[in-house]
Amino acid sequence: MNGSEDGQSVVVVGGGIVGLACADELVRAGHRVTLCDPSPGAGATYAAAGMLAPGGEAWFGEESLLRLGRESLARWPSFAAGLSERSGVDVDLRADGTLLVAGDRSDLEEVRRTCRLLSLAGVRVDELDRRDLKVKEPRLSSRVLGGAFLPDDHQVNPRRVVAALLAVLGDCVVRQRAVPTEDGVLLEDGTRLRADVVVLATGATGLPRVRPVRGEIVRVRTPDAPTCVLRARLHGERVYVVPRHDGELVIGATEEEHPAEQTAPMPTVGGVARLLETARALVPGLETAHVLEVVARDRPGSPDNGPLIGPVPVHGPARRLLAGGHHRGGVLLAPITAAAICAHVAEREVPHAARAFLPNRFDLSERDEDQCT
Ligand SMILES: Cc1cc2nc3c(=O)[nH]c(=O)nc-3n(C[C@H](O)[C@H](O)[C@H](O)COP(=O)(O)OP(=O)(O)OC[C@H]3O[C@@H](n4cnc5c(N)ncnc54)[C@H](O)[C@@H]3O)c2cc1C
Repeated sequence: MNGSEDGQSVVVVGGGIVGLACADELVRAGHRVTLCDPSPGAGATYAAAGMLAPGGEAWFGEESLLRLGRESLARWPSFAAGLSERSGVDVDLRADGTLLVAGDRSDLEEVRRTCRLLSLAGVRVDELDRRDLKVKEPRLSSRVLGGAFLPDDHQVNPRRVVAALLAVLGDCVVRQRAVPTEDGVLLEDGTRLRADVVVLATGATGLPRVRPVRGEIVRVRTPDAPTCVLRARLHGERVYVVPRHDGELVIGATEEEHPAEQTAPMPTVGGVARLLETARALVPGLETAHVLEVVARDRPGSPDNGPLIGPVPVHGPARRLLAGGHHRGGVLLAPITAAAICAHVAEREVPHAARAFLPNRFDLSERDEDQCT
């Protein structure tokens, strides 16, 4: 599709999974694309566990977000296959499903409410008692009470997705910060890039109505790893365990409202201790797992937990689109966001599920201090 005559010049600011996926889709649609980021893939995407979990993340009152997530999930197999083929990087998409696990009666009641919500929305879910759970995952503690299986909640390795997207984007990526201007962007070395459209995908900073929500994860390795994603609530404490290749596991994640800071997010003793304690109570065999990495990053949170995808009004000739605020679901939502941004650039009809997530559902006149507009 490269090189269509009506291709536009587009600058994407921000190279997390969202900006990179948008840039790739725009290149494939024939636009002339530059993506600016001093350290692509080093934001929230670096910490993400990679759960593709519209079911596990579903919450009451967030039915449009569930629809968006399910539509994006449906795009993941072809998105991953195409990307792996073009880049030569296996992005490790796994379709082993997800177990929801409850530790006590209150935790189990929440699992059951989630099951009812999902059944009403037409999402496949099987409630399991303690014995069924242990059959599905023998490594679980015998103290768990019950849970459910979500056969359609999957996972991917976000760092591999970033590597694949960077490989296919090649020279389109400029490793510099950028600020949008009336006719394009200004790079940190003083270069001005003119553009027909600027797409802002700057994660937890620089976008209107988006705030940082800090999360910590621990990566460990064990020879006896669970075989599918585990999402648990044990006596009110939440934890997930996401198995990758080679016995590697991602244990996550804390969630903490945080003021935007100039310094990089740092993991805390309290947060990491709680995660490890709860994970060990869920899977006792983790006692001897080796710790590989502890990471903290800021999720881009929005007022209603949904992303902001679409145009914002600006002065000047360059149109401006937002692709941000994906909060806990930026990995899941990358393919649908890329498709929607591509449709907005071409002023075509956007995918139906994405129409509920236009930025103009909020009052954007409220300026955040660090907004890069
Ligand atoms: C602990 C944790 C676990 C998570 N787990 C999951 C999960 O399992 N599944 C899921 O779907 N989601 C998960 N998420 C959420 C997901 O990581 C985010 O929604 C997603 O990464 C957001 O992507 P992004 O590209 O918008 O932002 P980011 O990945 O933060 O990328 C933003 C990029 O913009 C760049 N940037 C900023 N300002 C500028 C500028 N002025 N010029 C140029 N570049 C700039 C930054 O350098 C950065 O690379 C998790 C998040 C965290 C923190």
